[in-house]
Amino acid sequence: MEKFTVDGLVIRVSVTGESDRIVWVLTRSRGLIRAFAKGARGTKSKLHGGTSLFTYCDFSFYEKNNVYHVTEAVVKEVFFQFHDSFEKVTTAQYFCEVMLHNMPESTNEAFYLRLMLNSLHFLCGDQKPWLLVKSVFELRFACEEGYMPSLVACDECGEFETDRMYFDCREGLLFCARCGEHSSLPRIPLAVVSAMRHIVYSDFERCFAFDLAPECLPILNRITEHYLAQALQQSFKTLAYLQYDLPEDAR
Ligand SMILES: [Zn+2]
Repeated sequence: MEKFTVDGLVIRVSVTGESDRIVWVLTRSRGLIRAFAKGARGTKSKLHGGTSLFTYCDFSFYEKNNVYHVTEAVVKEVFFQFHDSFEKVTTAQYFCEVMLHNMPESTNEAFYLRLMLNSLHFLCGDQKPWLLVKSVFELRFACEEGYMPSLVACDECGEFETDRMYFDCREGLLFCARCGEHSSLPRIPLAVVSAMRHIVYSDFERCFAFDLAPECLPILNRITEHYLAQALQQSFKTLAYLQYDLPEDAR
């Protein structure tokens, strides 16, 4: 039997037995842990709060024969302030779905926890639109998984920027107005290219620190959502509930 303590975020909860829970915890140094929390559904249980969805805790676990149990959950932060916005809570669920299906076993686990905590922080706050937070999550997640798009310049002629550009979601390549003109690739305004460059090339501390005109956010989102789905070769159930309109000239 092994006992250990690690901080982590609850990204999925299901029920079992009469009053128990099973939790999926995205931890800082042990990857994704699926653990039993005995009695946690009881409102008087000391595990009740700490084993709720979107709760960040210092967890104590014990493991025996590859089965994990939560023995303690000291709450550090609860992300709940987005519950008045359907889009925000659905976006948070989408982030969990991406993590649950793609969590690598043993690479940079701390990065994934950090990306989740930061994304939830900005979803709960009101400074950043949810579409912006979603795009940052999608592009940084893709980069960490080894799918960094090449956004430095036009892949064909090396032009740094033109007032509109084209992006190939399948290959992760950028093309200038001239080279992309006769392709069937989505056309994107320069502001969206700049936003993508910021997300991909800035230090993690600054990757959410940019603004984009509201009419450009759906265009950025169409690109990042499609790019991540292409990279992971996966579709996500939660996305069916997230609707947003593209401006007419970008359809
Ligand atoms: Zn070009």
